[in-house]
Amino acid sequence: MSRKKTVLITGSSRGIGREMARLFAKNNYNVVINYNKSNDHAQELLEELTKEGCSVRIFKADISNIHEANSLVNYTIGQFEKIDVLINNAGISRFNLFTDICYDEWHEVMNVNLNSVFYVTQKALQYMLAEQSGKIINISSMWGLVGSANEVHYSTSKAALIGMTKALAKELGPSNIQVNAIAPGVIETDMLNEVDDDTIEMLKYETPLMRIGKPIDIARCALFLADEGGDFITGQVLSSNGGFVIN
Ligand code: NAP
Repeated sequence: MSRKKTVLITGSSRGIGREMARLFAKNNYNVVINYNKSNDHAQELLEELTKEGCSVRIFKADISNIHEANSLVNYTIGQFEKIDVLINNAGISRFNLFTDICYDEWHEVMNVNLNSVFYVTQKALQYMLAEQSGKIINISSMWGLVGSANEVHYSTSKAALIGMTKALAKELGPSNIQVNAIAPGVIETDMLNEVDDDTIEMLKYETPLMRIGKPIDIARCALFLADEGGDFITGQVLSSNGGFVIN
């Protein structure tokens, strides 16, 4: 029987990360759920999945802080000995005209969306490189591909993740570590709370598949890349966006 694999998913108390945690846990992965503020949501998810017989842990860490990011990786290794799959999912969005973005807001977005990925990935690689095996999946955004007005900092951070994905894929390929990105389109999560209903309708109308996405749409892409289907794929961006952006 093959060894049970372990996935660490950053920011998995809510939204897309939460659905990934569910899907991976039900597909026989050990899952480490990371949260920062949503303690109750993380506890609930832990109880739900534990009741179903899944192998799940939760760990609080603000991954924009390098020490907490390192603790998250150390905790995962302490619990499960290896990290087979790392999903850099945690992220925040802020809506503001570029000219109104203040210093703190710019750095908050960069710290959570981009610098955290450097911290967690570099630490996790200590273990993946020792194994000469691993999969890294970075959750970018279609706005990182095409840019979004009023979200220049968000778009910048997500475009940078794509650059990081491609460069790291080249560096880590010889070590049998695949690095890919998923660039979701509009997905129904709390992140859309600030978007009004008319705008959502307009976004649906502009999407060839005529709907916005669900967290499970993205979770399935991540599972595909993490499993054997992703073994010969590296440095790529999987654009799950209903056709909103077709390059
Ligand atoms: P969400 O529902 O707002 O959830 C965000 C998650 O990130 C939460 O679990 C949150 O945890 C966690 N998080 C935020 N800051 C953190 C920090 N400093 N340390 C640890 N965890 C942190 O957002 P979502 O829609 O699921 O987004 C997930 C990812 O998909 C993000 O990277 C986002 O940019 C990307 N994405 C989303 C969409 C969309 O339309 N929803 C589209 C494209 C890309 P706590 O609540 O516990 O703090």
